[in-house]
Amino acid sequence: MLVKMKSSADGDIKSVADHVKAHGCEVKIFKSEDNAAVAVLGEGREQKINLSELSALSGVEKVYTKDYFLTSRAFKNSDTVVKVGDVTFGGGSRVVMAGPCAIESYEQTDAIGKAISAMGVKVMRGGAFKPRTSAYSFQGLGIDGLKIGREVADKYGMLFVTELTDARYLEAFTKYVDIIQVGARNSQNFELLKDLGTCGKPILLKQGMSDNLDTWLSAAEYIYSRGNERIILCERGINGTDNKYYRNVTDINALLAMKKLTHLPLCMDPSHGSGRRDFIEPLSCMAVIAGTDALLIEVHNCPECALCDGAQSLHLDEFKHLLEALKVYEEAYKNASALV
Ligand code: PEP
Ligand code: MN
Repeated sequence: MLVKMKSSADGDIKSVADHVKAHGCEVKIFKSEDNAAVAVLGEGREQKINLSELSALSGVEKVYTKDYFLTSRAFKNSDTVVKVGDVTFGGGSRVVMAGPCAIESYEQTDAIGKAISAMGVKVMRGGAFKPRTSAYSFQGLGIDGLKIGREVADKYGMLFVTELTDARYLEAFTKYVDIIQVGARNSQNFELLKDLGTCGKPILLKQGMSDNLDTWLSAAEYIYSRGNERIILCERGINGTDNKYYRNVTDINALLAMKKLTHLPLCMDPSHGSGRRDFIEPLSCMAVIAGTDALLIEVHNCPECALCDGAQSLHLDEFKHLLEALKVYEEAYKNASALV
């Protein structure tokens, strides 16, 4: 549960926090320029805390037992800026994260890492644990893949983002990874989300397969309410009507709506959003026009030989072209935004 306070007055916040602690629960206090709230955490809180007693405490405006609040603009109206090393998500900058769908070998990752870092990419992606539909498809290199990703990212001065599929690998991720990705298949794995709330690493949270925007933000709230405010939300396409011509439906509307709903930085993944190499550049440009803060793009030195998602992976020269095209659209976006 979450207690929204009427004001940021420290005395009231303290008495709510003391009340909660006295009943055997943990608290986290959140303040924005507009609001203050106290999250009630810990097992059994529903049994330990009496709702009407809590609601009656001085300074309490509302007690949330459903929905989300901290991740919404109602809590904090100004854009949140997530800093990871020298990379900034939100606040006007545009981050392009790129790399293979899966880390397949040191040589493959090194070739891609070398090429994209020379093009100015600061964050390399690459899956080590691959959630595949078929039990017989390539499942990723596991911990060895994490080590390769780390080594290559360090070699070329990039950050490393990769997907965590199970909490049992969290320790290794804490060691080798800069940004932990939660994939579409795990965005409602609530126990995993709880662990990520205290892991100390920034999170790239994809929209789940069956998420709408409210349930997606509720997933982010699991992480945020446990104290991890460094979350980037990534649109990755929603399930379409027939998957004959493209894999998923890139939801540009979601970017526009999420900009209004949440203060967290937004990302778009046109690779999984379309499943089509030839759609990635135009979709990326559209995302820029829709105000995305970041892009997540699959690139491969040999998409035809890729063990995973080759059809939606750009060739290196196509990726270079995309980066040039993005500059044109970014300029247009800036000019249009400056119009009165
Ligand atoms: C990925 O980015 O590697 C991935 C598996 O994406 P999603 O979870 O969006 O399917
Ligand atoms: Mn992929």
